[in-house]
Formats: sequence, C-alpha cells, structure tokens
Amino acid sequence: MTPASAGPRSRALARRAARVLVGGVDSPVRSFRSVGGSPVFFARGRGAYLFDVDGRRYLDLVGSWGANLLGNAPPAVVAAVQRTANAGLTFGAPSPLEHELAEEVRRAAPVLERLRFVSSGTEAVMSAVRVARGFTGRTKVVKFEGGYHGHSDGLLARAGSGPATQALPDSAGVPAAVVGETLVARYNDPEGLAEAFERHGPSIAAVVVEPVAANMGVVLPQPGFLPAISRLARQHGALVVADEVITGFRLRRGTVHESLGLSADLVTLGKVVGGGMPIGVYGGRRDVMETVAPLGPVYQAGTLSGHPLAMAAGRATLDRLTPRVYATLERTGAELQETLLRLSEEERVRPFTLPRAGSMLGLFFAPGPVVDFASAGKTDRAEYARFFHAVLGRGVYLPPSALETTFVSAVVRSPDLVRAEEAFRAGFRAARRRGR
Ligand SMILES: *Cc1c(COP(=O)(O)O)cnc(C)c1O
Repeated sequence: MTPASAGPRSRALARRAARVLVGGVDSPVRSFRSVGGSPVFFARGRGAYLFDVDGRRYLDLVGSWGANLLGNAPPAVVAAVQRTANAGLTFGAPSPLEHELAEEVRRAAPVLERLRFVSSGTEAVMSAVRVARGFTGRTKVVKFEGGYHGHSDGLLARAGSGPATQALPDSAGVPAAVVGETLVARYNDPEGLAEAFERHGPSIAAVVVEPVAANMGVVLPQPGFLPAISRLARQHGALVVADEVITGFRLRRGTVHESLGLSADLVTLGKVVGGGMPIGVYGGRRDVMETVAPLGPVYQAGTLSGHPLAMAAGRATLDRLTPRVYATLERTGAELQETLLRLSEEERVRPFTLPRAGSMLGLFFAPGPVVDFASAGKTDRAEYARFFHAVLGRGVYLPPSALETTFVSAVVRSPDLVRAEEAFRAGFRAARRRGR
C-alpha cells in the first residue's frame, strides 16, 4: 500500500530532503514510516490549522507533539519572540528573562524549588537522572516499559524477559553496560516495581515516570499505582523523577503528578513551557538541586541554555494559561472523544479504545482497558494507518504513528470538530476495510 495522501510538492520535497537529511527528516516519526506513504511538508500554521506546501489545509491534532498548546503561531507569543530577537538572540550570559520565567514556573509548580533551563526534554531528563545519581550516590534507574524520556543512552532501554529485570538496549549504539544500570518495570504494576526494589533497592537512585503515560498513546495511571511509586521509593531511599515534559502545563497550570497521588523529588518539563521554542526544565527539591554546578559536584551546562527566545515564548505562553484555557481544553478534548467514539460505533469499528486525559487522547484499535505497553501494543497498526491516511486526505492532521498521542489545542472550537466528522467517518470506514 502506497497512500498518496501527500501532495505533489510534498512528495518532491521529500525526495530532495532524503538526499541530504537522514531519512529526509530530523526526527524519525516525521518520516511517516510507521503509517506508510510520504510525509506532508508544512508551509505555515495559524490557530487550529496547518497549511502544507501544496496549499492544503489541515485541522492540527498534533500541535508539534503537544508543544503548541495555544495553537499555531499565537500572535502574542510571536510578538514576544520578535521583540526579544530584536534585543539580541543569545548572550551566553544571564538575562532577566531566565529568572522571570523560572519565577512563573515555580509560582505554578512550587515543587520546583530550584530549577534550571536546558534546550530539550531529553536533556532535562538526562540531567535529572544525573542529579539523582549524584545526590544518592547510587547508580540504578527504574523506568516503565512504553515510557519515553528522551533519547539519552540510559533511558533508551526496553524490558528484558520477566518483570522488573535488567534492561536491554532499545537502540543500536547504546552499550549493554549503560542500560545495565536501568531497570524496566511495567506501567500500572506496583508489584513489579516492589520486586525491583526488593532485588536492587540499595542501588536504585531514582524511579522515572510519566504521571500520565503519553508516549504509547495515552495510558492513564490506575488508582494506587503512582502512590505506590512514592511509597516504595521513600522506603528504599530512592528519588522520584516525575517526567512532565508532556503533561506539565497541558493538563493544568503547573504539574499534575501531585493531584494524582505522586510525590516527586525532581520534575522535568518541556514542550508547552517553551511555547513552541526548544526548551527543557529540570528542577525540584532545593537540597537535591543544589548538588548541581556551580553549587555542587554534578556537572551540567549549555551554550544556549535559557535561550532568550525560548524564555520569551514560554513567558508569553504562561501569561495566557488561565483557568478558562484549561476549561476549554477539557471541553474540546471531551467533545473529540465523544465524536470519535460515536463515529466508531456507527461505523462498527471494534475494538476501539479511546483513553483521554484532558486534551490528550490515545486512539487504540485494540480492546480495552489499555493499562500498559503490552495492552497498548495490541493496537492494529495497519488499521490505524488506513484511518490516518483517509483522515489526512480530508484535511485532518493526526500523529503519523499508531502509538502516539492526539493533542487538542486551546484554539480548536466545536465547529472545527463538527467539520472534521466526515473525515473521521471516512477514516473509520477505511480502517474497517481489511486486507489491503
Ligand atoms: C517529548 C518527551 C521527552 C523528550 O523531549 P524532547 O524535547 O523531544 O527531547 C521526554 N519526556 C517525555 C515524557 C516526552 O514526552
């Protein structure tokens, strides 16, 4: 199957890009490899919509993987970036923009008593893990299967055989010795985590967890799971790193883990908090963060860290994150969920499972409940690919991969979703058509 849903200009650009960029892209999921076909190249975005190089318009339900909470090119954010750029792109020295955004972040998320800005979520989690190791003097890190924490070596790990065992590299080039310090447990499985602590407790520095998993579709934490993480970590003297690179400032103004019963020592942020510019944040308990240089022995640095344009975009974004925005996101997320469930019923697409947390939805062509990587992985990827292309061809941009999250932005309105219904309906019909 070679879906031709990308226009002729997109396809020509994909061929040209592939002659100079590896796979034609700068991040693998963009290549459309997991849904087939040729990627759409975008020329611009405005509000709820994206416009491709062939002049086609799409309702944007990816939002740059969640970063564009306020939609594409929000005028106030763009203006702040322009103003800031005129005053200098980078100093490699302190500017007031950094502590101003930091103060805003801490006001909204007091758990970050001290924090530091970096340039990506990957860097943030990698640094948080280093801090946890430096603070505890221990080496092992626990993550959960299907959780994504950026592409640093130690976290590109997958489960070995059996629960809570030593991890295996999840990428060529990652040494077995490095992921030998990583343990992979099952999401929503407190017993598996308890077993990991029984076996390796004294050498576990930290447990890294997404409070709502959003990198295997959306997988909600079951009652008791997150509190068990905090309890076990505390018992064994390990730290908890809440990876809120996706959930931070998306599900509420600030961090969400506390309200889900997780108590964290360190927190990572990214995506929304940079308002569409490259950013990462790590922070947390003051005593733990003060092990970072120049105050302590844990080294971490960055030429472009705290970049003025990212600080300005983040500040302008946070300024607009009012309770009303979150009420809108909740309402629109619920409406999209209801629409998709209703249409899947009407088109008799079964099984179809659609977990949601606010403006994040997981579209699984799989039976529920989806609680971990194994149940998420049961989604029918071919079905999703057919759904994706039929929907794309009718002007709705969804994640080009079956195990990614669908994001609603704050500028999507009910009429946008009503207009998208025929695309979704055609998508479900295409999904049902097996054996192509
Ligand atoms: C996106 C993401 C990261 C990595 O962030 P990048 O900016 O892509 O490096 C880390 N953790 C989670 C939970 C993410 O969703």
